[in-house]
Amino acid sequence: MQKVVIVGASLAGVRAAETLRSLGFDGHITMVGDENHMPYDRPPLSKNFLAGEWDADRVALRKPEALEELNLTWKLGHAATALNIADNSITLANGETVSYDGIVISTGGVVRRLPNQPAIAGVHVLRTLNDAESLRNEITEGAHVVVIGAGFIGLEAAATAAKRGAKVTVLEGLEAPLIRALGAEMGAAIGEVHTRNGVTVRCGVQVQSINGDNKVISITLGNGEDIPADVVIVGIGVAPATQWCEASGLTIRDGIVCDENLNAGPANVFVAGDVLRWPNALFTDVEADMRVEHWTNAAEQGAQAAKNLLAALNGTELEPYAAVPFFWSDQFDARIQCLGRPSANAQIDIVDGSVAEGKWCAIYSVNNRLTAVLGVSKPKLVMPSRALLSKHTTRDEALAHFERVLVAQAQAAAAAQQPK
Ligand SMILES: Cc1cc2nc3c(=O)[nH]c(=O)nc-3n(C[C@H](O)[C@H](O)[C@H](O)COP(=O)(O)OP(=O)(O)OC[C@H]3O[C@@H](n4cnc5c(N)ncnc54)[C@H](O)[C@@H]3O)c2cc1C
Repeated sequence: MQKVVIVGASLAGVRAAETLRSLGFDGHITMVGDENHMPYDRPPLSKNFLAGEWDADRVALRKPEALEELNLTWKLGHAATALNIADNSITLANGETVSYDGIVISTGGVVRRLPNQPAIAGVHVLRTLNDAESLRNEITEGAHVVVIGAGFIGLEAAATAAKRGAKVTVLEGLEAPLIRALGAEMGAAIGEVHTRNGVTVRCGVQVQSINGDNKVISITLGNGEDIPADVVIVGIGVAPATQWCEASGLTIRDGIVCDENLNAGPANVFVAGDVLRWPNALFTDVEADMRVEHWTNAAEQGAQAAKNLLAALNGTELEPYAAVPFFWSDQFDARIQCLGRPSANAQIDIVDGSVAEGKWCAIYSVNNRLTAVLGVSKPKLVMPSRALLSKHTTRDEALAHFERVLVAQAQAAAAAQQPK
């Protein structure tokens, strides 16, 4: 194999390139990306970068020397517009064709917009460095910032804007924040973190229109109420970036559908990151397949997709990618961490702390099977519970585990207080 093309020059794509090189692949690697920037990290865009604390250099995914060492051919600012499976090539927006022996697709997600979202000043989305750059200049002290959609990105942006002194209102159509991600009870609990910090969180409201001629001035709700707005952030999620390869014959269903080895069907096509849907063997009893929009997942899958691409082309054995999904989110002083697959239909037990004190750990179970561990500022409980989620643990076993851990932690704390 001489030529690998990676489509999507971001986290999963860079990890794929690094892995190819670290496994000794010395052929040609072309990195195709539709953004003009060298790869950068997205999590700071709603946190330190939006807060004005970090500059663009600080969000770079790798130092220029490290990327240079990979010896890649960069095609940035050019979207891939077609995947031609039959002749192992892709077409770029400028008409160029790039052929490959193997391909890793890591095109991530495309931010969703409201159907009637006007293209006027002050109305923003937040996915790219360019989005974050134009937004952060407008978040000023006293500005009325309205966030539409109480998902993770919207809430992080709301927290950052509030910390910068803006008057922030979050509008959510469902009855609590983060319902799809965490269910109503935990979503409402995280909503309280915002309320305590001065953000107005309004759930169960519909946005009828975003108003203004050249610049946004207000939002009208379904009940006719007007909310003043200097800045609007539309945070209603992302769709997998699959449009460019829809005619390729690959199976696409809210993501590119792959097998457990991250293979998309043709032996030389692998997928990684936010754009991938695959059966995660650790969770197939509760979810036949999944698509995950988290940093750690994209990084690990980029590496695994590259490894399996080399194995497929060398005729060696492929390795399934099965892992406990993990994400973190920083909102005010709450460090949210979650392992597993929280869902709205799960049974929830708070095993330590409380929502009222703003620090707690909750477990999610479906049919008496532990599916997720969520912690708000409880890092010592969340991260060590990965092993529980890597095997099938019942809710009762998980409750007993946390009871034991908490007793042990209390004893260790008491022992530490004893005079020596
Ligand atoms: C503001 C923000 C904050 C976040 N915070 C957290 C966090 O705190 N914790 C966490 O776990 N996760 C967080 N995430 C999610 C995390 O950043 C993503 O899961 C991760 O970036 C996914 O990496 P990826 O490489 O799969 O896709 P992406 O990072 O989306 O990269 C895909 C790249 O492919 C490009 N592309 C798309 N289509 C084409 C095409 N046709 N041709 C060429 N290029 C194309 C895109 O423009 C993009 O550059 C955050 C995301 C955002 C946006």
